[in-house]
Amino acid sequence: MLARATQLKDEFVAYRRDFHQHPELGFEEVRTSGIVAEYLESLGIEVTRMANTAVVGLLRGAKPGRTVALRADMDALSIPQQNDVPYKSVNPGKMHACGHDGHTAILMGVAKLLSEVKDELAGNVKFFFQPAEEGPGGALPMIKAGAMENPHVDGVIGMHVGVNLPTGQIGLKAGPSHAGTDSITITLEGKGGHGAHPHSSVDTIVAAGHLIVALQTIVSREIDPLGSAVVTVGTINGGYRNNVIAHQVVLTGTVRTLDPEVRASMPERIERIIKGVCDTFRCKYNFVYDKGYPSVMNDPVMADLAEATAQRLLGAENVVRTANPSMGGEDFSYFAEKAPGIFLRLGAGNPAKDCVYPGHHPYFNFDEDAIPIGMAVMAEAALDFLKQ
Ligand SMILES: [Zn+2]
Ligand SMILES: [Zn+2]
Repeated sequence: MLARATQLKDEFVAYRRDFHQHPELGFEEVRTSGIVAEYLESLGIEVTRMANTAVVGLLRGAKPGRTVALRADMDALSIPQQNDVPYKSVNPGKMHACGHDGHTAILMGVAKLLSEVKDELAGNVKFFFQPAEEGPGGALPMIKAGAMENPHVDGVIGMHVGVNLPTGQIGLKAGPSHAGTDSITITLEGKGGHGAHPHSSVDTIVAAGHLIVALQTIVSREIDPLGSAVVTVGTINGGYRNNVIAHQVVLTGTVRTLDPEVRASMPERIERIIKGVCDTFRCKYNFVYDKGYPSVMNDPVMADLAEATAQRLLGAENVVRTANPSMGGEDFSYFAEKAPGIFLRLGAGNPAKDCVYPGHHPYFNFDEDAIPIGMAVMAEAALDFLKQ
């Protein structure tokens, strides 16, 4: 597969550059999904459109067997592109700064590779081209629309480019690999007044100051130090001018966790501290905890399978078991809740090509030499899964 993918490289680099030049935001991937659907149909793959702009391809093997789903995301970010490449974004304010253009091209390449061997396939391969990974999330609407059924998906494989690994390497991790990503909004209500007369007011600025500090004790004093959590207050808004006591302060933040039990405990921990601070400083509050993506839980058996595949293709020295998960989020997690899953990191860092900036950076780019590697690893991992 690696030899064949290398032969096909130019075709899929061209697709990647075309997507890069025409980035589309979540649930607006009309052009991208149209190209994907047309391409899959040209390979004789059954295509279903769902969840606005999602595309699901189904390649039925000649022999019966299990079904594996391979997933790519297609959406771009609302970031104005700063780096100069010949295929720079023509859509103002939009950029493929997370490599989803590459994921889409790679999965199209995998569809090509596997459709060439479908006579030998025992089982089915589904190709998930997902919208809106960057938010509000396309995986869950796809599952609700039936992507994991007919035929039922027995295992799911996803992949993300990363410039923190050099081209030629694959990274993977059993267990949690990405954090659950929740958001909080806290509104403190007090009583406004003249800055010179604090005794006849209820100052929400002072309460907010104590609250922000007290919230830090959830991670430092309540969560097991060997576990992981993040409580970040990202915005604080309140007040009018220097000599006015603010009657209201609104804080927003993000809560990241790896362990589902820790995640489930966070609303109570946060609200207990808000309530305590508000009791102390005579405020009222409103607290909203919005659940985002759950943490990605990689299945140990799927991790072993993908590791063996990657080692065979790239050599054991080029397959890295990453020790630490990322506290970033990924809605691949929803697919991995429904079937055993593995989310792979595809090394695509290359300082010689300036592919060093992290995802979501306006100079982000990844090494296109990783495209045939990603194609081959995904295709062979799918074949290995179906042979089990
Ligand atoms: Zn991203
Ligand atoms: Zn991404």
